[in-house]
Amino acid sequence: MRPFFFLECEMRPLVKVIDVAALRHNVRVLRQQAGAAKLVAVVKADAYGHGVANVLPALTDVDGFAVASMDEALQLRQLGVGQPVLLLEGIFAADEAALCAQHDFVPCVHSPEQLAWLRGVDGISAWVKVDSGMHRLGFAAADAASWLPQVLSLQQVRWLGVASHFACADAEDLSDAQAQLARLDALALPAGWQRCLANSAALFALPEARGEVVRAGLALYGMSPFADGDAARLGLRPVLSLQTQVLAVRRLQAGDFAGYSHGFQAQVAGNLATIALGYGDGFPRAIVSGAVQLLLNGKRYPLVGRVAMDMALLWLGEDTAAVGDAVLVFGEGNPAERVAAQAATIPYTLTTMLTARVRAEVVDG
Ligand SMILES: *Cc1c(COP(=O)(O)O)cnc(C)c1O
Repeated sequence: MRPFFFLECEMRPLVKVIDVAALRHNVRVLRQQAGAAKLVAVVKADAYGHGVANVLPALTDVDGFAVASMDEALQLRQLGVGQPVLLLEGIFAADEAALCAQHDFVPCVHSPEQLAWLRGVDGISAWVKVDSGMHRLGFAAADAASWLPQVLSLQQVRWLGVASHFACADAEDLSDAQAQLARLDALALPAGWQRCLANSAALFALPEARGEVVRAGLALYGMSPFADGDAARLGLRPVLSLQTQVLAVRRLQAGDFAGYSHGFQAQVAGNLATIALGYGDGFPRAIVSGAVQLLLNGKRYPLVGRVAMDMALLWLGEDTAAVGDAVLVFGEGNPAERVAAQAATIPYTLTTMLTARVRAEVVDG
């Protein structure tokens, strides 16, 4: 632990505060939502930017983890994870098959190439990835008669069942997701095969898609995948709060410009705060001046001008602020879903794109 004075004096004030109490709360909510299905925590991309090592201690009560690569899976084992680890895209090369057997990683198998890589390797459990309409990965649902015999010919693999992914489970109109589900229902599968289908959106919007295993990412971190962006409606609490501070405040006169390329021009006289937040931290640069609002001293102020690598500007109008005043970029009180909508992006990107230089501070409640 660094002493408090060191934090105050020496460190850039931008910090992602990870609330593990909120995370444990969300696990309970998702478990309830999942019913009898097993809950797999999706922790790819460094737990959506939250930091895998930060979140793991609060995820003891999940049935497994899902990641996107062998590196991410091995990191989980290094951190002491004992539960099964699902490889969402399966293995990327033949030599990863032996690693699956050795470390008890459970690959999705989406292609004939991946099937060939597993041939002859003992001790692997796997899911067959079915393309039910997303058209990204998987064996086509309509062609089961051609691929199922090939799959079953690998008798040494313990086939758990089918995995699939919804393209539009977050949509108001669920007919596309229901069509995907109908294609999966139409498959003639061996007895005892399980289903691993639902992401966060399907878990809430399409209970009939829960199957035996669900895979939740965004909701685990307390964010809503739906257009209303209201995680509280789902009973979830945001885990990550991105906090920073005011570095300087200056008075602009009407007509004054600020920032690179004079990206902001004051229409009237007022106060401008410079804050520690930039695209070097992973905050999006491609936002419209004035569109995104951040919380400072209990009030929302527009982010104006061009976001620079290390700094951004808040227009305070006739209000003022002191150097060192706390600014909530997003998190509890200024939901990431709302900031994402203002920034014309999705909450997934706001946390996932945070760069390594953003300090993490883990709090419990
Ligand atoms: C990332 C991912 C998930 C998790 O999705 P959320 O919307 O974050 O719950 C589930 N399944 C697959 C295949 C994924 O790639």
